[in-house]
Amino acid sequence: METFNLASGQPVARLGQGTWRIGEQNARRTEEIAALRAGLDLGLAVIDTAEMYGDGRSEELIADAIEGRRAECYLVSKVLPHNATRRGTVAACERSLRRLRTDYLDLYLLHWRQSEPLDTTLEAFLELRSAGKIRHYGVSNFDVDDLEDARALAGGDGIAANQVLYSLEERGIEWDLLPWCRRRSLPVMAYSPLGSSASAVRRLLGTKAVRVIAQRHAASAAAVALAWVLRDEQIVVVPKAATVEHVRANRRALDLDLSQDDLRELDTAFPPPGRKTSLAMI
Ligand code: NAP
Repeated sequence: METFNLASGQPVARLGQGTWRIGEQNARRTEEIAALRAGLDLGLAVIDTAEMYGDGRSEELIADAIEGRRAECYLVSKVLPHNATRRGTVAACERSLRRLRTDYLDLYLLHWRQSEPLDTTLEAFLELRSAGKIRHYGVSNFDVDDLEDARALAGGDGIAANQVLYSLEERGIEWDLLPWCRRRSLPVMAYSPLGSSASAVRRLLGTKAVRVIAQRHAASAAAVALAWVLRDEQIVVVPKAATVEHVRANRRALDLDLSQDDLRELDTAFPPPGRKTSLAMI
């Protein structure tokens, strides 16, 4: 399987697993755990979570799913902006570690930028890294100006990834954020690649161009939408799938090579941005 150095020499598959809205319903628990384990069996090591997801229940469910398999995983979690003070970040990380029943995170992100000054969050990240509680740190929902602000601060050059919204329907980052990250070899993690909400997922996967291309490759529409994100080699994508069937369908994206014709058809159905727009967020 093709792998990618997400941060400082850590090779992982560029397709990972998102976990927003996982762990929120007891009735779905067994199926969700099976889905995450199936993903690990298929080599989808990056598991993306956040203290925000289900108020920690996503992290708790992941702990059960990865029991005995920590070394196979690349665990990503996020601190909420209102916790992102120097001491608050350290405390939030320690809570996440307890819920995940692990002693380190592979990557710890600031979930989005708000009122806390970035320099104190970065100081906390450096402290956590020195203590071995996180291997790498990064940001989420940062546009070019946010990244420039952060990179000017102590520890800013250590930012190892930026996680942002990116899908066929949300291509705004192609205007300047993706090129900016590419020039600096900063990996981008794409979230909500399938549209996120049930209705948006139905709309995206039901689009004629996506369906026709899926048929051409004997793959699912979801695999096409994910393969399109993965066409850019600096991107790791973290779709959320709560069933084994969805995980297996998504895994196919790693082997699906979209042709120039496929890409042209998708550009017609979902045109690239023609100007700078403000960074879209969910
Ligand atoms: P998403 O991955 O775009 O979409 C998830 C939806 O797609 C679920 O309803 C899922 O259904 C469905 N799905 C998955 N595989 C499918 C398949 N093969 N066929 C049909 N439907 C399929 O949305 P997301 O959860 O918003 O984003 C992914 C991850 O990104 C999140 O879970 C989270 O880890 C991260 N995220 C980060 C931020 C941030 O601010 N940093 C924001 C949003 C999301 P089932 O659940 O039934 O499988």
